[in-house]
Parts: sequence; C-alpha cells; structure tokens
Amino acid sequence: MVDFEVARRKVLKYTPLFGVTTVSLNRCVGYVLAEEIVAREPVPLFDSSAVDGFAVRYENVAAAGDNKPVVLQLIGTIRAGDASGVAIKKNSTVKIFTGAPVPRSATAVVMVEVTEESDGKVLIKKSAKHGQNIRKKGEEFRKGQKIFAPGTLITPPIVAMLASLGVTKVKVYKKPRVTLIVTGDELRPPSAKLNPGQIRDSNSYALKSSLGSIGIDAIDIIHSKDSQGEIRKAFIKALRRSDVVISVGGVSVGEYDLVKDVLEDIGVKQIFWKVAMKPGKPNYFGVKNKKLVFGLPGNPVSAMVSFYVLVRPAIIKMMGSTDYTPFVIKARLTETITKKPGRMEFVRGILGKNESGELLVAPAKGQDSHMIGGMATADCLIYFPKGSIKLKKFSNVDVELLVW
Ligand code: AMP
Ligand code: MG
Repeated sequence: MVDFEVARRKVLKYTPLFGVTTVSLNRCVGYVLAEEIVAREPVPLFDSSAVDGFAVRYENVAAAGDNKPVVLQLIGTIRAGDASGVAIKKNSTVKIFTGAPVPRSATAVVMVEVTEESDGKVLIKKSAKHGQNIRKKGEEFRKGQKIFAPGTLITPPIVAMLASLGVTKVKVYKKPRVTLIVTGDELRPPSAKLNPGQIRDSNSYALKSSLGSIGIDAIDIIHSKDSQGEIRKAFIKALRRSDVVISVGGVSVGEYDLVKDVLEDIGVKQIFWKVAMKPGKPNYFGVKNKKLVFGLPGNPVSAMVSFYVLVRPAIIKMMGSTDYTPFVIKARLTETITKKPGRMEFVRGILGKNESGELLVAPAKGQDSHMIGGMATADCLIYFPKGSIKLKKFSNVDVELLVW
C-alpha cells in the first residue's frame, strides 16, 4: 500500500504531455495554450471615451461648479466607430459617446450627467481633472507585452482577449482520448427496469460528466461483465484507441475482482495498487506505452473521490496545464471527527461562514462510500491526515475545494 501523496506524485510523474495542434478562435475554449500570447498592438488601441458626455480641454472647465457653470460651444459629435478628426479649440466641446475615439486636442471627458445642452451650447457644472474618463491607448498592455504564458487554460475571458487582439488561430496542446470501462454484472442503465439484485450504473455518468467539465469530450464507454475474457477484450480495445483508460469496479480483493490480473496479463506495468486513502483504498495505476491506466474502485463515492484526487490532476496536466495542484484552503471544523490511523481520509465537507465571516467546514451527512447523497451535497474535501485519529471542533483544517 502506498501513501496518498506518493501515489499522486507517481501518477503525475508518469503523465505525458501530448503534441501541439492549432485551433481556431471559435474552438479554443477549454484547451491549454501552447504558445505565448503577446500584444501585437497597444491595448486599448486608441484613446477613447469611458462615458457618454463631452470632450473638453480640461483647463477650460477646471473652475466649473454647481453654482458657476462654464459654458462651451458645441462644435461636433463623435460616435463609437467615427474617426476623431475634430479639433477642440479654446472654450469649445464635442459631444462624445462611450467607446468613441477622443480627439488629440481633448484632455478630459465630462460625463453627460453633470451637463446641460441647449441651442448649440453646453453648460458644464462640474470641474474635470486631466485625463478624466479617457481610456488611454496602451494602458492595459503595451505593444509587445506578454499577456498569457504557455500552460494557461483558455477560459471565456481569454477567448475574449484573443478576439480583441485579432488572434484567430492559436497553438494549443492536444487533449487525451479517454475510455471508461465499467465493470459489474449487477449494473444496468438508469432507464432499465431492475431485476432483484441489480443496481443502476451511476459511475459512468459521474466520470463522463467529470471529464466533460474539464474539457474532455473524446470519451468511449465500454460496459463489461465480471468475466476475465470480457474485461480483457475491453482493455485491449481501450488501449488501442485511447491515451487514458479508466476502469471502475472489480479492482478489490474479491473473487470477481479481475481487473488487476487482466492488466498484468496484457502487459500493463503496475505502478501501484492500493493507496492508504479513504475512500478509495483499492486504487490501481499502471502504464503501457505512455498510456495511463487507472483502476478505480466501484463504490460510487470512492470512484468520484479517486477520480478527483488522482485522475483529474493527471488529465489536467496531460492537457498541458501548469495549474493541476489542488486548491487547498483553511477552514474551522464545526464538529470533532475521529478515525483510525493508517489512511488519509477525504471527508466530504460543506463550507459555510460564521457571523464574523470566518470560513467554517461541516462534514456532510452520509460519509459511507456508497452514499452518493453525501458526496452530492459536499463542496469540498476535508483532509484528515493519515497519522491522526482526531480533528477537534474549531480546529483549522485543510480543505480542498471541489470545482467540478
Ligand atoms: P466493486 O469495486 O466492483 O467491488 O464494486 C463496489 C461496489 O460499488 C458494489 O456495491 C457495486 O455494486 C458498486 N458499483 C460498482 N460499479 C458501479 C457503478 N458503475 N455504478 C454504481 N455502483 C457501482
Ligand atoms: Mg464489481
């Protein structure tokens, strides 16, 4: 049996990076950047107005106030999309709209709310500072400045940034293809009428949707009975067409737990089997030709927790991301919890706050490894270290956020 930390380290050590491909702006969300993105031009591209109002020379309105408005001559209008050709002379102004280019001769924009316009004249009732309400050219990024590093996951705001820079194609890391092998004679699809002793397969849904939410869509699912022959066929097929094979069930020590023997038989190199963690002790991990093979235990909570703490980081790393370490924070326990020493326990927790805003964490109801409800109400995993037997009420504990 290996310690959890050792197991995770080993998984990440054997996790390969794939090649690079080019995708279009429309398809790049959820991929990881394989190139540095540099500002090809200043951002913003030109000085523009941040408000609807009037472009002025700030010194003309420096003395303006509620009781002593300044009167300016209205000499034109600039809308978003117009060129900024108008020159603003002394005591004149131009009506301007949000996003419209500010003329070179203007040094401030006064918002429409503190003005009054009539008969070609504009009353300015509030003074303006130099540069007020002007979005300056290059204020966010200079031309040539680095914006995103390789290894960055492309999120919708990053897609927006790429679009605004005029980047229409982007180099990204290829994503792995995954096959799920779901074992168990007792399993039936959720739509089926159950015979006595049968249960509905929830794991393939849990795992497929977990993979989907980290951007993996090339997923095959193979259902297999608890027979050596069928499991063997399933793994051979899966290893032929995928980069990652995740089996679920049949990896414990029972008579029908055949996964481990089959994997040995077909030449998968075992890196570990059994991890000192709860839930999820009978976890298997092996490799064959740079392909990763995970054998997760079948209990639904064990399968989901094992996926979250062992498989998910590997897949995120495989996709090229540098951000695969778990997000761990501190929170105060709302009640004392105990366990036997010897295994790291991932207690399903629910975060909250007390009146002073301090983070609290409560163990979810239903901590057994078959209780999907407890997992479904949880938003975090409380780390209950291997060696400890008690975490006291109000103690500050490590908590990993579940970001499905
Ligand atoms: P196993 O790891 O195959 O011994 O399964 C452990 C427990 O998890 C048993 O109670 C199985 O019925 C259950 N189980 C296995 N696979 C699934 C699945 N795909 N969906 C729901 N429960 C499962
Ligand atoms: Mg089974």
